[in-house]
Order: sequence, then C-alpha cells, then structure tokens
Amino acid sequence: EKVEFIEYFSHVIDRFEMHKDQKNEFKRLLTEQSLYVWIDKDKITQVLDNIISNSIKYSPEGGTITLKAETMKKQLLVSITDQGMGMPSDTVDKIFDRFYRVDKARSREVGGTGLGLAIAREIIESHHGQIWANSQEGKGTTVFFTLPLINQKRRKRK
Ligand code: ATP
Ligand code: MG
Repeated sequence: EKVEFIEYFSHVIDRFEMHKDQKNEFKRLLTEQSLYVWIDKDKITQVLDNIISNSIKYSPEGGTITLKAETMKKQLLVSITDQGMGMPSDTVDKIFDRFYRVDKARSREVGGTGLGLAIAREIIESHHGQIWANSQEGKGTTVFFTLPLINQKRRKRK
C-alpha cells in the first residue's frame, strides 16, 4: 500500500517511547517533507521493531538512540544508531545471516534466535531496498536501510 513514511515511522517510534521503563533516550531526525513509499506496512513494521529492539537490547547502559529518515539518490534512507556495545568490525556483515549472533555467551543473556535481521534483510530486499550496518565495538551500531520512493513531484518545465 502507499504510505507516507515519516508519519508512519513517527507512530512506530511513539509506540516504543510509550514503554516507560526505557533507559534509552530517543532522538528523531526526520525530514520535513512527505516521503511516499509503496510498502507492506506489517512487514516493514517487523523490520523496524527488530532493529529498534536490538538497539535497546544491545545497549545495556542506555544512551541515545537516533532515528533518522532522509532522502538519498531518490531513495528513502533510514538509519537507527545506538551507543551500545557494538561489535567487532569483521562481524558486522554476518549479523544478517540466519542464526548468527555475535559472541554467543554474551548474547545468550539477552535472548533471541538470531533471526531478526535475516528476516529484515529478506523483507527489505523484497521491497527492492538494501540493508547494512556499521559498528564499533564498545561504541555503538548503526543499521541502515533504503526503500524506493514513489516519485511525487512532476518536474516543472523550464
Ligand atoms: P532475534 O532478533 O531473532 O530475537 P537477535 O536479536 O539475536 O535475535 P538479530 O536481530 O538477527 O538476532 O541480530 C543478530 C546479532 O547481531 C545479535 O545477536 C547481536 O549479536 C548482533 N546485533 C544486532 N543488532 C545489534 C546492535 N544494535 N548492537 C550490537 N549488536 C547487535
Ligand atoms: Mg533481534
């Protein structure tokens, strides 16, 4: 369905913010303009839920979670940055593999199956987008994804 992403994304973030026991602060960096995408809302919600809950889960000491939505090369670019435990740079590409979990012993305490990001990748790729991450151990992680924008404006003739 056709969705205005910024309003929809705000609602998803609101829902996380309503859980009051939160140790993390949320910071929103959202463009003023309306950005339309053609998405399966339930599926993209699943993607956002996993990425945002990972940011919380893997930030045991709290910190700011920055949620950003902008345009890049006619695409929507979403990024979610935390100040959590991060991971070694050579593992950052593996986190999108099924059942992969960084440091099994450490992540066993927080629980999970290691499927969340593999499912996220499948969903984003089926929407013709891309998903990737940057991370620094002990500093934090950013997960990025893109989605094609619906071309809104008809270009004015000169
Ligand atoms: P599930 O999402 O299935 O409940 P999970 O969170 O372990 O379990 P994924 O969401 O696929 O699985 O993440 C895979 C692994 O990547 C995690 O186990 C964790 O080691 C690492 N990871 C994911 N997001 C972050 C993050 N924001 N900070 C640090 N490590 C992360
Ligand atoms: Mg997860």
